[in-house]
Amino acid sequence: MNIIILGSTGQVGGMLIDELKSYPEHTVKSVGRASADLIWGDGLLDTLEQLVITEQPDIVINAIAYTAVDKAESEQEQAFALNSDLPARLADICQRNSALLIHYSTDFVFDGLKAEPWQEWDDTNPLSAYGKSKLAGEKAIQMTQASAVILRTSWVYGETGNNFVKTMIRLGKERDTLGVVADQAGCPTYSRDIAKATIAIIDCYIKDSTQFNNIQNLCHLSGNGSTTWHGFAEAIFAGAAKHEALAIKNLNAITTEDYPTPAIRPANSVLNCDKLKTDFGVSMPDWQTSLTECLERLYQS
Ligand code: NDP
Repeated sequence: MNIIILGSTGQVGGMLIDELKSYPEHTVKSVGRASADLIWGDGLLDTLEQLVITEQPDIVINAIAYTAVDKAESEQEQAFALNSDLPARLADICQRNSALLIHYSTDFVFDGLKAEPWQEWDDTNPLSAYGKSKLAGEKAIQMTQASAVILRTSWVYGETGNNFVKTMIRLGKERDTLGVVADQAGCPTYSRDIAKATIAIIDCYIKDSTQFNNIQNLCHLSGNGSTTWHGFAEAIFAGAAKHEALAIKNLNAITTEDYPTPAIRPANSVLNCDKLKTDFGVSMPDWQTSLTECLERLYQS
């Protein structure tokens, strides 16, 4: 397959490039911000269309996003440009050039008020500008006839990029006491698992591309199981302590009220990923297992 990856410097984009190195049968072209800063106007989107026309990819993977959740509250124009306008235009380009679009979305499309894990057909009601912009991106893709897979993921971490795991390790070395929010539940998801699941979906496309024809398949894709940010931090410290001495002695459970942020987060954003298994045969590993793998790789590097 001829694959274009957009957002190659991000957590997911970078991991896709890393994992795809083991598949020499795929030709991968990656596009980072240096070659296309996509926020500033149509000219650059035209460049992207030219790239698709020239490269004739079978698949375009969009891992570009405006992911600064709190900053998005005051930079809504930029957030919507990247999270909604870009995927809308990409879907259109892919449709006209017969390429499959794989796009990522977020658990933050939900308001968190359901007690059980969220399913793909549950009502959305984003609480933040980021969530609204990502939902607008999903809907824009679904308005087209493009062959597309939209993967909603959550709480992404990995060896690369800025994420909760790396922040906790840094703070765990600096401080002996830390308060972490214990009343928001979700599914930590290892960027490498997202990359592997995406490659498994590509395999399904190779085996039978007709089942993707002009369908915009929405699936949840997150680490198996769930926890709170506090539970996640606890597991990170326990895992990291096997590799190095940490300063942290007291990890306190605090509430969302104790830690106000510009963007409101859902209280429960646990995703049910059964559809991923039904549609593509993909089961995600337990989040604890993936965290152990990530920490091992992090400390090896
Ligand atoms: P990152 O923030 O790690 O990466 C975002 C990518 O977008 C980077 O390559 C970045 O480039 C690129 N980008 C940002 N602005 C521009 C721009 N103006 N022009 C061109 N490129 C730009 O995101 P993740 O890998 O974590 O996220 C991947 C997907 O998963 C996204 O769709 C996100 O919404 C979704 N998601 C992420 C979650 C998370 O916890 N991170 C949770 C749920 C969903 P550069 O490196 O130059 O900034």
